[in-house]
Amino acid sequence: MSSSKYIILGGGMVAGYAAKELVSRGLGSGELVIISADDALPYERPPLSKGFLSGKDNEAGILINSADWYREHGIEVKLQTAVENADLKQKRLRANSGEGFDFQRLLIATGARARRLDCPGNDWPNVFYLRSLDDSRKIRARAANSKQAVVIGGGFIGMEVASVLAQKKIETTLVIREDRVWSRVFTPAMSDFFERYYASRGVQLLKRESVTALHGKEQASTVLLASGRKISCDMVVAGVGAAPVTELFAKSGLSIDNGMVVSEYLETNQANIFAAGDVANYVDTIFEKRRRVEHWDNAVSQGQHWATMVSGERQPFVHVPYFFSDVFDLSYELWGDSEGATQTVARGDLHSSSFSVWWLKRERLVCAFVMNRPDEERQVAPEWIKSKQIVSADRLADQNRPIQEALRKNLG
Ligand code: NAP
Repeated sequence: MSSSKYIILGGGMVAGYAAKELVSRGLGSGELVIISADDALPYERPPLSKGFLSGKDNEAGILINSADWYREHGIEVKLQTAVENADLKQKRLRANSGEGFDFQRLLIATGARARRLDCPGNDWPNVFYLRSLDDSRKIRARAANSKQAVVIGGGFIGMEVASVLAQKKIETTLVIREDRVWSRVFTPAMSDFFERYYASRGVQLLKRESVTALHGKEQASTVLLASGRKISCDMVVAGVGAAPVTELFAKSGLSIDNGMVVSEYLETNQANIFAAGDVANYVDTIFEKRRRVEHWDNAVSQGQHWATMVSGERQPFVHVPYFFSDVFDLSYELWGDSEGATQTVARGDLHSSSFSVWWLKRERLVCAFVMNRPDEERQVAPEWIKSKQIVSADRLADQNRPIQEALRKNLG
């Protein structure tokens, strides 16, 4: 039985960045144990559907901290260790190996797992789901010998993986059930831009389609769609969403509702037990609502924030949601939350790869998308969302004015 001041359950990005922050704040040797079911030390996840998948990054290059770093700071990382019992009264976790881990403070960072397709043939050996480094390794290896791929799902994984595979000269078909790409985030004009961009780079996009079966002998060779259409393939990648991993705590007394329910301090309803990252359903004090965010930036920021708090600085987590994506030679960023927005304004040219889109609600900026635009647009986006200052839509739309002039203090 080991006993430590802190345990982080889940060896993902939260763990890697929380460990780094704790060390910078004087963590003592032997005070932190990270328990991970993964076979690799905490790594950056964005490259799994971008640079690592394409072959630009290698495994060592995406580790958050090296094995030597954990050793030097006396942090134990237990890999390939699945916890099967959590006794929160005793403050003890028990692994499938029988090993026990006592803690004073626990951070639940169990993340999310990839949803699987719900149709016959969903587990053929050449049907892939992307979540871990090992998943990405397998897709990369298969892609090296592939000629025809079908990618299912119009979210982040679908769009990013389709762009990587098409750039490897694999004939790629992207199947989405929506009537346009990234419809959850993008305006119709933005979807239209990306659809044209993908088509011009050889990706065949099939919209309003769903997969009914994956047929084959020893592996999937045909994807059957609800319309009756059949697509030949030698590999399939499905990116059909993810679900938070909470089962271990189902009977623990911790509040669970679309993830582990935590306050703006990332605290659960039991003292000294916290949650962060993809699994945390937290109070967003800027938008005044609960949210669970499955993005890299949230895992990094919440991991760091937790480390700061348990080191003595108790502060609410106040953060503008953010993500970025790279597809083909494009890279864009998005801040905020467009839900409930009543107006959108575009700057730049939506027929070129340089534009930004601004979502307003009651004259305040709630969300901004920026791609290849002047740096000041990137700077003001999170500042304005956080400050909730009044913005003039007309001035924002006026391309001849510097963007800062759209703020209330400059009106009139
Ligand atoms: P996602 O972004 O949530 O998108 C899932 C997509 O699959 C949606 O378009 C969804 O459509 C569709 N879908 C759901 N069930 C389906 C089904 N049975 N058949 C066909 N389509 C279906 O999820 P993801 O792309 O799988 O990515 C997983 C997680 O990783 C996400 O949380 C994502 O944020 C994260 N991620 C982030 C990045 C980034 O930040 N750049 C990159 C990669 C992954 P509906 O909208 O109609 O449900």
